[in-house]
Amino acid sequence: MLVEDVSVMVVEDDAFQRRMLVRLLNDMGVKKIDQAPEGQAALNILLERIEPVDIVISDLDMPNMDGMELIRHLGEQQSVGSVILTSGLDGTLINSVGTMARAYGIDLLGGIEKPVTQSNLGRLIKRFLLDGAYKQVNDPTPLIPFAEIRRGMLAYEFHPYYQPKVEIASGKVVGAEALVRWLHPQHGVVAPAKFIPQLEEAGLIDDLTWTVLAGAAGHCLKLRERGFDMTVAVNLSLRSLTNTGIAERMVGILRNANLDPSHIVLEVTETTAISNVGKVLENLARLRMKGFGLSIDDYGTGYSSMQQLSRIPFTELKIDRAFVADATRQERLKVMVGASLDMARELGLKSVAEGVESRSDWELLASLNCDVAQGYFIAKPMPFEKLCEWVPNWVPPDLR
Ligand code: C2E
Ligand code: CA
Ligand code: CA
Repeated sequence: MLVEDVSVMVVEDDAFQRRMLVRLLNDMGVKKIDQAPEGQAALNILLERIEPVDIVISDLDMPNMDGMELIRHLGEQQSVGSVILTSGLDGTLINSVGTMARAYGIDLLGGIEKPVTQSNLGRLIKRFLLDGAYKQVNDPTPLIPFAEIRRGMLAYEFHPYYQPKVEIASGKVVGAEALVRWLHPQHGVVAPAKFIPQLEEAGLIDDLTWTVLAGAAGHCLKLRERGFDMTVAVNLSLRSLTNTGIAERMVGILRNANLDPSHIVLEVTETTAISNVGKVLENLARLRMKGFGLSIDDYGTGYSSMQQLSRIPFTELKIDRAFVADATRQERLKVMVGASLDMARELGLKSVAEGVESRSDWELLASLNCDVAQGYFIAKPMPFEKLCEWVPNWVPPDLR
């Protein structure tokens, strides 16, 4: 999503501060801005609008309807993507209201202690632009209770879907990424954003990893037996890599599946600065030694630094879709994608671009000599059976 496509509603009773906020947003390139002096007025505007608002920036303490009550109504209406809270009061209050907001199913981008500045507001808007792509407005399943997630795990309701990866130069399908889906008896297909954060928080993400890896290994073998020379990629939470013993366990899973680890690529995202660097490095080195491919996922989203790259024996670099999606329209992003690809080449890493959504994205990446493309332009994630039908029927864009 581009910053000029983002719609923002500013709810603030102080006219001066409201104007300041609007000006800051204008400076960042936000074009669609609504304003309201308190919660009820904000709700009235939301009711009249046809399109939902992406971000509501709300003060907490306001006359008539305050920020807390507004959040409750927003949670009930489900017409808003994300919320940013501002307050002259201290951070602990903002935090506790933040917890409340999540309980109402509101996606809280963050809280800002006033004064709001270009940098603290810009950081949260940027977070929205990076995450917003897979957070859907009007999502019908706001917050799934943890007990329900557990029940689903015990009932084997989590399965990998697969999104193909295509080599740009040859047009060949060279792999697929396993993306977990919860096939829920009532809610249907539930996306990972709904349960992975909770599993990570509860320290249960490893159980999911084992499920997905075992499924992916079995499916990869089936693909290879059908004559498709493909690797399968599995996402690995950084948190899992702080447990020693993970490499042995993963090798064991592949042994059971009768698959050589070299056919599996582990995609690792640096979501937070690594806390336990030693153990993470030990695990990654061991996994590489056992033959797994190692991919640095979401490259460009902030934490992945040159330093990390040089310390870990990665085999692949995956450029985040936030960069790829708009590279054809924004010169700045195109330059960054080009530079990342150059660096991958010099480090001897295979380059993969995710979020390839159009023919022009594909052509740009081809001109920049990117190795592999993945995205809706090629195919959306699909169940394994679909993938088996899809692969032999795939026609590369250059032959269409
Ligand atoms: P990711 O690793 O960055 O995966 C790519 C996400 O982008 C997927 O979302 C995919 O459906 C979506 N995507 C693919 N092509 C396009 C495109 O052209 N345009 C757009 N807008 N989006 C595209 P999904 O499946 O919802 O997964 C979200 C995240 O959840 C993944 O991000 C990954 O970090 C995590 N995840 C998924 N499966 C697992 C898993 O088994 N274990 C762990 N630890 N994390 C997982
Ligand atoms: Ca990934
Ligand atoms: Ca990504």
